[in-house]
Amino acid sequence: MNCTICNKPITLSPSATERAAKDVTGKSAAYYTNLFTTHSKCSVEKRERETVELIRRKHAEREGLGVDSFGSVVVSTFTIRQKDL
Ligand SMILES: [Zn+2]
Repeated sequence: MNCTICNKPITLSPSATERAAKDVTGKSAAYYTNLFTTHSKCSVEKRERETVELIRRKHAEREGLGVDSFGSVVVSTFTIRQKDL
């Protein structure tokens, strides 16, 4: 299974086979393989790109509509995250 974002293989730890072996509900290894379609790092990065897009849209809206409180919240959340990196 390759990551749907970066297209590189996803290696599970524990592996899909190991997870399936421990699963008392009888889920297959394929179930676990299909469960993880992106790297967690990739999905975080994708969400951040989407946040940037959202901020851009909110900025554009603000040009015409004045201050948008929801937009401000998103901007401050993103700022905190950037500092953490
Ligand atoms: Zn990836």
